[in-house]
This record gives sequence, structure tokens and C-alpha cells, in this order.
Amino acid sequence: MKSRNFIIGAGFTGLTTGIDDDLTLVFEKENFPGGLCASYYIDLSGRKYPGRLSKETFRFERGGGHWIWASARDSQYIEFLKQFSELKFYERKAAVYFRKWDLIVPYPLQFNLNLLPGELKEKIKKDMRNVGETQANSLKEWLYNNFGETLCEIFFFPFNEKYTAGLLDKISLKDEYKTPIIKERIIESLERPSYGQEFGYNPKFFYPVNGLDALIAKMALRANISYEKEVVQIDTKRKEIIFSDGDGFKFDKLISTLPLKTLMQFSGMSDESDFLLHNSLLVLNIGAIRGRMKIDYHWLYIPESKSGFHRIGFYSNVDREFLPESLANDENIISLYVEKAYPMNSKLKQDDLKKSVKDIVEELKEWQIIEKELIVDFTWVPIAYCWESTETPQNYKEIIRNKYKSFGIFSTGRYGKWETQGVIDSIKDGFLAKGWIENG
Ligand SMILES: Cc1cc2nc3c(=O)[nH]c(=O)nc-3n(C[C@H](O)[C@H](O)[C@H](O)COP(=O)(O)OP(=O)(O)OC[C@H]3O[C@@H](n4cnc5c(N)ncnc54)[C@H](O)[C@@H]3O)c2cc1C
Repeated sequence: MKSRNFIIGAGFTGLTTGIDDDLTLVFEKENFPGGLCASYYIDLSGRKYPGRLSKETFRFERGGGHWIWASARDSQYIEFLKQFSELKFYERKAAVYFRKWDLIVPYPLQFNLNLLPGELKEKIKKDMRNVGETQANSLKEWLYNNFGETLCEIFFFPFNEKYTAGLLDKISLKDEYKTPIIKERIIESLERPSYGQEFGYNPKFFYPVNGLDALIAKMALRANISYEKEVVQIDTKRKEIIFSDGDGFKFDKLISTLPLKTLMQFSGMSDESDFLLHNSLLVLNIGAIRGRMKIDYHWLYIPESKSGFHRIGFYSNVDREFLPESLANDENIISLYVEKAYPMNSKLKQDDLKKSVKDIVEELKEWQIIEKELIVDFTWVPIAYCWESTETPQNYKEIIRNKYKSFGIFSTGRYGKWETQGVIDSIKDGFLAKGWIENG
């Protein structure tokens, strides 16, 4: 059998790697490209479409709203994407919602503390005298050392416990990007808001005018993709990929965008000490009649909810294009996504997921965010956010990835590198992988 170069996965990383390369074949287990970023459409009768085949459809994304953030340094990647679609730019509107006080505080919370109840502000002021210890082993310690007891108690601990599905004291992440710290600004914001629009996660973002699906479809046309080809095993000695249908292909060079942990499982290596940690995610997509609560934020972080969700995003607050055309001007119609995290290796039955979905929808109604659901759909993401354990030996991931390189396998992309990163970084990874195929 003649060997050649292959890519596993037609998400953003695999598509970028495979673009305009007739000699390299991409294997994708689904029958569509885009991975987590693939948008899909549902009409009011519940019928699903892979693209906007009817104007009377809600647009959703498999992994929930995918807003592409980029800095000025990323202009070449933005230009790359502009070949496939016109892009529309937005400024982030995010906030924290405290249900118990029915209070919305703009994100980053720590720069808008004057909006909190008075007695808490006094406590935070005292806490701030003792914070600033930089040494921290876990995310939990890091949060406590930088924000003190009160802010951790009301937000950082409960939110992150839910988001990491219980891994808060086990992961080594220091999260200064999503959780910016400027002590003076935090203290100052106890007196007056500073809003902090320029700080933190995703301050500006863009989105393709006709949906991510349209952009991805155009990218996919320029790559050589074999759909419904699920890799189940990789023989590193024989340099062979084995598929669920029994096929096998020998490779010269292989780009894998599989999660690093999965690549290890498929090739007989194991992360037996569980240094590579992650959560799993239930993503709900909902089209609904709005409740009494009128929210104009793009997304809300939720520290406490009975049904366990930690974030609600509003597609229709980013753009009314996400709604069916005839409802786009009806301010009573909204579309949203809700994230609920589960511990890694959770094996949920379909009925368990449906029960969670029902509970979340009920809670959204109780909170008056929605009055009535029109469409409810959900996706299960087995590996969603990736972290390393506090026990992880130094350079653990690099050592493993280098070992794979010695077998002719380049493990890359958000999951192949086991990093929490966005689409632009996956595109960068795709270009690097392309270079590796060409030059080694
Ligand atoms: C909940 C959530 C929200 C996010 N929001 C944002 C956001 O707002 N903005 C942003 O920029 N980024 C966001 N991201 C990150 C973004 O999803 C990733 O950066 C991006 O999808 C990574 O692309 P990828 O190609 O590396 O991986 P993936 O999108 O995971 O693509 C991997 C591909 O491999 C295929 N595959 C898997 N297993 C096999 C197999 N065995 N055989 C063959 N094919 C296989 C999959 O079907 C998939 O198509 C978010 C991520 C999550 C989890």
C-alpha cells in the first residue's frame, strides 16, 4: 500500500492545514466539516438543516456561540478568513448575573464592584489588604490569593467549580487572561465603576455575515476531505491509521487534531496518572419567547443555578440574523445557548441528558429569561475545556507531542495541543502544521 500524508479532523485546524493541498487527505468522522464550530439551522417545526436552506430558521452552533476574537497581531489570519466570507465586528457585552440579588454586574466583575451590595464592598475592601500573593499551585489558590475570601465566595469559587466540574483545586491554570487582576483598579472600582471593556476575554470579536457554516463550507471546498471516516486506532510502528469501517491507510506524515488524550488511547499510550484533565459539556441551543427579564448582554456568567449551568449566551443579542427572518424584528423572540459542565469520563445516558435539558429550561423560565421555548436542541461535547493537573511533570505535553513527532505524527489544534484556545489559534496551528508537512 502506498503511503501518503493525512489529516485527522476537518475542524478549523484540519481545514486550514489541508487547504489547497491536493496531495493531503483529511479524514472527518462526521458528514460535515467544522467540528465544534459548525453552525446548523432549525425551523419552527423542529426540522434541522446543515445550512440556511430556509430563511425561516434559527441559526445555532454545535459548541454554542463561536465568536472569533483576534488582536491586531492576528491581522493576517483575519485576512485569510476574509477570502471565505465578509466578517462583521462586535464589541463584547458580558456580565455576571447574581440570581440571589437579581443583580447584573458587567464583566469583569472585579472592575465593577461598586454595584455590589454595601456590606460586601466593606468586606472586599478588607480582603484586598491581604491579597497579591503570587505563588499558587492550583486555580483555586490563585483565585483566593488574588481576590480574597469575599469575591471567591460570591463568584470565583462557585462559578469555577461549575465550569471546571469540580476540578478547581486540581488544575494548575493561572487564568489572568479571562480573569484580569489589577489590584488598584479593583480597589478603585469599589467606589466607582471602571467597566474594563478593554480587559479580559474576547473584548472585540467578529463573526461571518452568513454564519460560520457558510465560511467553513467555502474552506472545505478547497480541501480534500473524506467524510464519515472515523479513526479508531493508530499503529505508530507500522505508521498505519485504522478506521471504524475496517479500512487502513499507511501514512508518511499525519496531522492529528484529535484530543491528545484520545490520540494516546488510539495508539496504545495512556495518560494513566490523569495529568491531562478536562470537563465534558452539555450545550443547549434554545429559540424562545422572551421572559420578563430583558437582557441585552452577549453572555452572562452564572455563579449559582439549581440545574448546574454556568453560562448563558444570547445569539440574538449578538445579531438578529440568528433568528428566523420573519421574527428578526420581534423583540419578544430570542435565541440562546446554555453551558453545563460535567466531570471528565461522565457516561450520561440520553435520558439523563434530556432530564438536565428539561431542568435547565424550567430554571430559565423560573428566572423569567424565557417565557416559552420554541426550539430546544442540545449537543454533548465529551472533551470541551482542557487543563493540566497540578501534579503534571514539567513539559509533559511537549514531551508526548515530540514523541509523536518522532513517529511522523504532529498533534495540534486546541485539543491536539491540549490548550484552551480559540479559533484564530487553531488557524495559526493549521498554518504551522502545513509548514511541517511541507518542510518537516
Ligand atoms: C464550549 C466551547 C465554546 C467555544 N467558544 C469559542 C468562541 O466563542 N470563540 C473561539 O474562537 N473559540 C471558541 N472555542 C474554541 C473552538 O471551538 C476551538 O478552538 C476550535 O473548534 C478548535 O478547532 P479544531 O479543528 O482544533 O478542533 P475541533 O473543532 O474539535 O475539530 C476536530 C475535528 O475532528 C473530528 N474528529 C474527532 N474525532 C475523530 C475521529 N476519531 N476520526 C475522524 N475525525 C474525528 C471532529 O468531528 C472535528 O470535526 C470554544 C470551545 C468550546 C468547547
